[in-house]
Amino acid sequence: MSGRTLSVVENGDGEAAREIPGAQALRRGLSLLDIVAESDKPLRFVEIAEQSGLSKPTAHRMLATLVEAGLLRVDERDQTYRLGFRLFRMAHRVWNEFDLRGAASPELARLADLTGEAVRLAVLDDTSVLYIDQRDSAQAVRLGLGVGARVAAHASGAGKAIVAHLDPQHRQTMVSRLGLERFTPNTIVDPVEFARELELTKGRGYAVSFGEQHADISSVAAPIFDHRAIAIGAIAIVGPSYRMGVDRLHALGRDAIEAARRVSGNVGQLAMSISINPRPLGPERDDLRCAVPSACFLGEGPVWSAADKRLLFVDILAPSVILADPESGQFVSKPMPELIGAAVPRARGGYLAATQTGFKTFDWSSDTITSVANPEAGKPGNRFNDGKCDRRGRFWAGTLAITTSPGEGALYRLDPDGSVATMGKGFHISNGLGWSPDDKRFYFADSGTRRIYVYDFDIDSGDIANRRVFVQLPENAGIPDGMTVDAEGFVWSAHWDGWCVTRYDPDGKVDRVVTLPVPRPTSCCFGGPDLSTLYITTARIRMSQRQLAEAPLSGGVFALRAGVRGQADTPFAG
Ligand code: ZN
Repeated sequence: MSGRTLSVVENGDGEAAREIPGAQALRRGLSLLDIVAESDKPLRFVEIAEQSGLSKPTAHRMLATLVEAGLLRVDERDQTYRLGFRLFRMAHRVWNEFDLRGAASPELARLADLTGEAVRLAVLDDTSVLYIDQRDSAQAVRLGLGVGARVAAHASGAGKAIVAHLDPQHRQTMVSRLGLERFTPNTIVDPVEFARELELTKGRGYAVSFGEQHADISSVAAPIFDHRAIAIGAIAIVGPSYRMGVDRLHALGRDAIEAARRVSGNVGQLAMSISINPRPLGPERDDLRCAVPSACFLGEGPVWSAADKRLLFVDILAPSVILADPESGQFVSKPMPELIGAAVPRARGGYLAATQTGFKTFDWSSDTITSVANPEAGKPGNRFNDGKCDRRGRFWAGTLAITTSPGEGALYRLDPDGSVATMGKGFHISNGLGWSPDDKRFYFADSGTRRIYVYDFDIDSGDIANRRVFVQLPENAGIPDGMTVDAEGFVWSAHWDGWCVTRYDPDGKVDRVVTLPVPRPTSCCFGGPDLSTLYITTARIRMSQRQLAEAPLSGGVFALRAGVRGQADTPFAG
């Protein structure tokens, strides 16, 4: 429904308040839909007609129309009416929108804190901007418009940010429909000037509105992309014009971009699987417990730090590094200034991290972070994901496009002398890695293709060769994420959205499936004094309230008595 139609209905003046022709029929049709939707069992025609109170001919005509429209369907086996597949498609779209809200939620809160202004999440609904979420900071003046409000796309920062990033053809069509109505002296109403404004917006990566909708309100906004790199929404920082001068608006542009990128990362990564498989009925296990109640957005990259006698892992989206004592469940986290894919201890003390902008070293107690190398400096749309050291202390880590467009990821090896080697290219979503106990094999997961690859590995030279598919996961089994290789040479792989960790034998055959009480395990490693416990990190990002209620321990770290020992994690030797 377009904004225009809505405003007529809501107008409430004499004209619109009168019954619109067909409205009664529509109401009756919807009541039939309700009857079918709310019934515990499939209903036959006679039962529906009876419940609706409509005459049989009327009920019959309306049901036929609903079937024709795809909103209902008839099960031929027993002549009962069921909900139609069109509703399924519609529901998916609604789900996607809420998914976006879930993905953006931590960023909205962070930006509101950071800027002291109101922060809004917007989508384009036909030609207007619809606010679907908002966070107010303590000092924000109350703004007139809240969640559910609509504004003209051409006069709002969010609207310009989205429209500027549409594909050229779509953008042209959209611009021709916008109407460019004037609201304030600052509103851009000239089509040529507006086209220039969109180019500028695209170049900068963010849009500004200098009191273009309301003279006393200004905003800056950046687009959020889905996994196909299509602009699906925007994050806007909105405040009173007297506080949002030109300089400040542009300074806030970077914050908006950064936040929107993070959300795009969430959307992209998780858009790989829109629905979560239902919780499988596994045995209640007494060999499994939630060891660290860390409630991570996206817990990842666990390694056992022998020096700390602690489990080290990251929350990619907090972003933070976490040191945990899995015996007591106590943990400390260190906030990081950018997305962090993995962190490992260094042999000389301190830690090495794979971040959005390359390899960095840091100490727990200081705020100083030192850049070591950034092999993808020329690809600001990429970030590092999982990483781990081989037995000689070389650090291996892969990348992915934050929009998760395929083929953009690469695998790198950081040697102790600080030099970087490119070990592979063209991956979709670089993920978990591991080595066989005899150092003859290297395993590497590409989550985008649901594959784990195996390579021949040369421990002396650090070379890999002869890539082949070790495991190809079927579509409904989740996505292979992080992994570890145990002392017997079997591979433990965490299955995102699969509610399980699977152990594969060296031929890639399933040896054991360990069912978990959470849907999104992300990675695993062996730890503890004798390396006999498998620690499993998990995520809670973008799970709905209902899903979280079903899996409340999501985001925690689980400990499994595996019955087999792991290999010790090697610190970075540089
Ligand atoms: Zn991962």
